[in-house]
Amino acid sequence: LPVPHPSEALAGGRLTVDLDAIAANWRTLSENLRDGTECGATVKANAYGTGLAETAERLSQEGCRTFFVALPEEALHLRETLPDATIYVLDGLFPGTAETYAAANLRPVLNSVPEIEEWSAYCRTANTALPAAIHIDTGMNRLGLLPEMFAQVMADNYLTGPFTPCLLVSHLACGATPDHPLNRIQLDTFRAATADFPDIPKSLANSAGVFLGPDYHFDIARPGISLFGGKALDPGANPMSPVVCVEARILMVRDVAESKTIGYGGVETATRTMRLAIVAAGYADGFMRRAGSSDKRPGGFGWLDGHRLPIVGRISMDMMALDVTDVPETVARHGVFVELLGPNVAASDLAIYAETIDYEYLTGLGRRFHRRYGPLDTPEGRS
Ligand SMILES: *Cc1c(COP(=O)(O)O)cnc(C)c1O
Repeated sequence: LPVPHPSEALAGGRLTVDLDAIAANWRTLSENLRDGTECGATVKANAYGTGLAETAERLSQEGCRTFFVALPEEALHLRETLPDATIYVLDGLFPGTAETYAAANLRPVLNSVPEIEEWSAYCRTANTALPAAIHIDTGMNRLGLLPEMFAQVMADNYLTGPFTPCLLVSHLACGATPDHPLNRIQLDTFRAATADFPDIPKSLANSAGVFLGPDYHFDIARPGISLFGGKALDPGANPMSPVVCVEARILMVRDVAESKTIGYGGVETATRTMRLAIVAAGYADGFMRRAGSSDKRPGGFGWLDGHRLPIVGRISMDMMALDVTDVPETVARHGVFVELLGPNVAASDLAIYAETIDYEYLTGLGRRFHRRYGPLDTPEGRS
């Protein structure tokens, strides 16, 4: 959550977040939903690295009313920013904290029988039927009640009588792969499990679910990654606007002779005389070591003034080397900021080299960077 961020002059890199682009992505998602479906927002993990308070405030201005976070601590921070929003805690009810949830008007997503028992007991004692969501496991096998258990629980007035089940939730395991058979199975299972409760609102769609079509939309969608410019579906182009730009400064520009190796382990050999820019971002800043390059396997890349700059050798903790051999010396020079992720370097592309997903890049970025909010393509963003 709140981390101290250095001034630009003292930081190795800077992270720019475009809140208007997040708002535009939310509008795009809303427009993709069938009539009557509310578009919520999932803002866990510091709004996927973009800043919880800033992002939630902007989305609220845009008309978003319902927010989903993972942890109660995140929910309490969000409550300070948005006194009137509906806030769901996806990780559920932590033992002994019902009073805290109630005081901050947070809604737990009850994921198991013990959580339901605890919320129920709290509401019985407090004598108020507080709202909570119930999570039904339709095939993810992570959190939630299996359909048979859900049916039993709903039939048990002692358990579910004292509180107000206000949302029935399930989560897609394979939404990113539209033709995966599990999507349809989960949809059918969710419909069957919830059929007896037409009056309780329902939610199945994360970002991918929004793009799987109206059958998946139900009453409220809870997209996360698409708001932040990530790629929800594996196939096809990404319709969302980029939201985050990470740039790091060039610490040094240097030549390397042919046949010399570059960086730790000597895993990449210069096949010609090369010029390298050493930039001040590494795996401690979220640039995963796995996206490094070797003689056997290409790595990720950066971007400068229309030039694609391949990573050369391993990524270190605080630095990486980029190939600027073909970039004019007046462009690739000491102190200049190079784009490492942003409009020209999609997190989803970088993720392929690191054998991960854009979610992991976004949520891991820039603990040591200067942070600013504004458009991604300001002139000062292209020094
Ligand atoms: C993270 C999460 C979301 C948001 O998913 P995206 O793929 O980022 O859109 C929605 N629902 C649940 C239960 C989640 O854990």
